[in-house]
Amino acid sequence: MSIDFLSQPTEELFREDSRLTECVARIRALDERGVRLDRTVFYPQGGGQAGDAGELLLADGTRIAIADTRKGEAPGEIVHVPAAEQSDALGKLRPGDRVTARIDWGRRYRHMRFHTATHLLCALVPHPVDGCSITAAYARLDFHMQEPLDKEALTAGIARLVAESHPVRHRWITDAELDADPTLVRSMSVRPPRGSGRVRVLEIEGVDLQPCGGTHVANTSEVGMVVVKKIEKKSAMTRRVVLEFAT
Ligand SMILES: [Zn+2]
Repeated sequence: MSIDFLSQPTEELFREDSRLTECVARIRALDERGVRLDRTVFYPQGGGQAGDAGELLLADGTRIAIADTRKGEAPGEIVHVPAAEQSDALGKLRPGDRVTARIDWGRRYRHMRFHTATHLLCALVPHPVDGCSITAAYARLDFHMQEPLDKEALTAGIARLVAESHPVRHRWITDAELDADPTLVRSMSVRPPRGSGRVRVLEIEGVDLQPCGGTHVANTSEVGMVVVKKIEKKSAMTRRVVLEFAT
């Protein structure tokens, strides 16, 4: 195995195709924190979105349950965190071995629906966001604002944007393209980070445009029935909106 194989960042297949549920990958390394692969469909916790769970399948049929996915210390490193008490199965893993990495799609799809719903909320509440958490059970967004928010009006606003079936897509934009088109930056609800050379932006056609590295559905109609469960005044300058799926 070359040093390059060990030191390159994990290939992030979920960035280009959020609907990939599995991939074949090679094990780069494993330690007490978890398993590193050369490529993966597992989204690591970040940008408020929870990390993926799922399983790694070995050639002999052994299954290793993955409880969570986190970023490692090195840039671009992704750590698949095994569920507890699997030392026998984990003992079979060797660097260089091929495995099938498969996410818990039901859980991830809820993340994608909620994540897309938080973008709809950003379009309805034109204030800066200073906190975000997206799980399979709920999503919450903290807005930096003093004005009160109306629960029913926001639920109705989300339902309207879902019913309007807006296409959702991402694209990569270079710093040079941003500089050349100031209207692009002005239309974004969040200012893009500079310096890395390119930034991934998420566009909900006619609704929202902002830099985002997370996973989303392909059309707002997929978000389905999402309701504003509660609105909390977290501080004098923070209003927290909690979303849940309607049951
Ligand atoms: Zn997003």
